[in-house]
Amino acid sequence: MPATTIHVAVYGAAGRMGQAILRAASAEPRLRVSAALVRAGSELAGRALRDVHGAAAPDLDFTDALDPDTPVDVLVDFSGAHAFDAALALALERRAAFVSGTTGLVDAQRDALERAAARIPLMWASNFSLGIALLMRLARDAAHALPSWDCEIVEMHHRRKLDAPSGTALSLGEAVAEGRGVAFAERAVHGRSGRTGERPEGEIGFHALRGGDVVGEHTLVFAGPGERLELAHRATDRDVFARGVVAAACWIARQAPGAYPIDRILGGVGAV
Ligand code: NAD
Repeated sequence: MPATTIHVAVYGAAGRMGQAILRAASAEPRLRVSAALVRAGSELAGRALRDVHGAAAPDLDFTDALDPDTPVDVLVDFSGAHAFDAALALALERRAAFVSGTTGLVDAQRDALERAAARIPLMWASNFSLGIALLMRLARDAAHALPSWDCEIVEMHHRRKLDAPSGTALSLGEAVAEGRGVAFAERAVHGRSGRTGERPEGEIGFHALRGGDVVGEHTLVFAGPGERLELAHRATDRDVFARGVVAAACWIARQAPGAYPIDRILGGVGAV
């Protein structure tokens, strides 16, 4: 094993994302999966990863308690908002870098992340796709460069999605507000119907389409006098998130304590 190998523990390893991350991390030569953590009482605890994922999986068992002797450089959390506090506490206890894509966090949990950044390097993102990471940056730049153009954000997801607009659409709206130096909450408008009157300048409009098995599509429209700019991203495969997580784990293992936005992994050594 080369000296630079990064040991990764996956928290929420039995979940859809956890399993995709285990597969992607196992295929990345810079990473070694050192622990696959499942919730207490999970029927997977004690079972070999290879029984579930086949011979290419790392030679270790799922566990519901991290062994103190297990090396952990990066703790990756894709569990759920209810389990997030314990995941962050474990990263702090082990002084490991923390990469989390868990959504639905409340303000107190975001505050805890901010405090933790003084002690460990961490990256949280509502979407770990590299294309979306770049779209965030483009959204900020376009909003800054075209301050008076109308901005609308249209997203489409599969029919089973429970919330609207998507967390990614909201993050894109926040990037637009940041680019313009305005307060997001005062500008966001969700859908339009009836006699709305003329569109006020500076609104950030959101529109959610639902149907079929669409993995995730986001389009930012900037409309000015006589011209229109559209920036669009389409995800066709959920593995895009796992690939971004692997890139983030490779990158963050070398960083000093701090909270890093996901676009820091673009174009760098860690990018895949
Ligand atoms: P999932 O329900 O399939 O998986 C979550 C797993 O976490 C479950 O297996 C659950 O048993 C496990 N878990 C719960 N408590 C635990 C604990 N204390 N210790 C260890 N494991 C525990 O959900 P999912 O689709 O994999 O999504 C997980 C999270 O990631 C959600 O918050 C989802 O919104 C988010 N997500 C983020 C991105 C992104 O790119 N940021 C992409 C997809 C999903």
